[in-house]
Order: sequence, then C-alpha cells, then structure tokens
Amino acid sequence: MLMDVRERIKAKTRAAGRDPGAVTLVAVSKTHGVESLAQAIAAGQQHFGENRVQEAEEKWPLLKAKHSGLNLHLIGPLQTNKADQAVALFDVIHTLDRPKLAEKLATEMQKQGRALPCFVQINTGREAQKAGIDPTDADQFIAACRETWKINVAGLMCIPPVNEQAALHFAFLRDMASRNGLAQLSMGMSDDFETAIAFGATHVRVGSAIFGARGNVQA
Ligand SMILES: *Cc1c(COP(=O)(O)O)cnc(C)c1O
Repeated sequence: MLMDVRERIKAKTRAAGRDPGAVTLVAVSKTHGVESLAQAIAAGQQHFGENRVQEAEEKWPLLKAKHSGLNLHLIGPLQTNKADQAVALFDVIHTLDRPKLAEKLATEMQKQGRALPCFVQINTGREAQKAGIDPTDADQFIAACRETWKINVAGLMCIPPVNEQAALHFAFLRDMASRNGLAQLSMGMSDDFETAIAFGATHVRVGSAIFGARGNVQA
C-alpha cells in the first residue's frame, strides 16, 4: 500500500505541474508496531509521523539509531511539559499552536542546540474542540514565532473539519502561507491527499492508506 500511495502522489504531482520531488510523504505510523515500521523503512520510507510523544519514545529511538536518515514528524498536540522530550526525539514539529508552546519550544531548542523546522497549526475551521491558531490571530502569531522566539517556521499545517470541503481549507491555508512568505504546507491525509497536492501541499500526512486501519481509534 506504501507503493500505491507513492504512485498516486507521483501522478498527482505531475498532473498539477509541480516538480517530482515537491511533495514529501509523511507515513503516519501511530498505533502501528515496529514490524510495520521496519517494513516501511526497508521499502525506503524515511519520513514518519507520530501523534504522541510517549508512544514515539517507545518505538523510535532504536530504529533511529539503526537507520540513518530517518525523519520523525510530530503531528499531534504537544503539552509544554513534554517539549524537552519532543525536541530531543523529533526532527519536525507540525503542531505549533499557541504562544506558551512557542516559548517553551524556543527555550528547549536553544538548550539542546536543535533548531527544528516547525509548522504553525491553523484551526481553519474554527472548531472549538480542535487545536490550532485562530485564523484572525495567525499573521501576528507567525511573526512572533519568528521575531520574538526565533523559531524556524517552515510553513503552515491544518486539519480540515470532517464535514466540509477540504479544498476550501487547503486554498485558505495556501493563501495564508503565501502572504506570510512561508513555502511549506502540511495538509492532506488518506482521504484527501490528492486534493491537497493540487492545492500546493509539500507534506502529506498519510496513515491508514499505507498501514491499514488503526485498531483503536485516535484523533
Ligand atoms: C492520524 C493523523 C493523520 C493520518 O490520518 P489517515 O486518515 O490515517 O491518513 C494525519 N494527520 C494527523 C494530524 C493525524 O492525527
């Protein structure tokens, strides 16, 4: 299924008139065991996404020690009291979503000498239960991340509301990134990554289409 997703990404990237290497596949391996991860690594997969720090700590340190070139992406909400562990283990943070976390991450990255690329998560659907910066506060927050906290802001990330047209949210995020001079867009999951690529996604986060359904449901 990994090969199939890769082919679909390649075809869609070409159809959208974009460079062949423009889209990074982040294989979302949450809830899946190390055997599945090892298989994907053997098939050449280098970018993986996990949504929980603790689960990632149980699965990844050995694999990372064994295979050079792996990139681990944090795609779930991060509590400030786990920022130190997250900075030590992950290579990219997709869920920078509030000032307190920005401040804490900046301190930890400084301390550990690791300037991780971070995506600012935008709550494009303004859903009360969902993490992310409110769109009206976004430009100001992005500026503060760069100027006040000196964070390496790589781009923007969103998770569209389930019952809305994802394309509208992807277009909205693309425009917001463009007006803030940000080149990267983390958007698109199993059900909508092809749409996301048409709207300029540089990172698609795909889980079930690669690894199959997850046993226990997690957000
Ligand atoms: C689980 C998850 C994904 C992957 O979802 P699939 O539908 O299995 O592809 C992508 N992004 C985030 C933030 C997730 O939590």
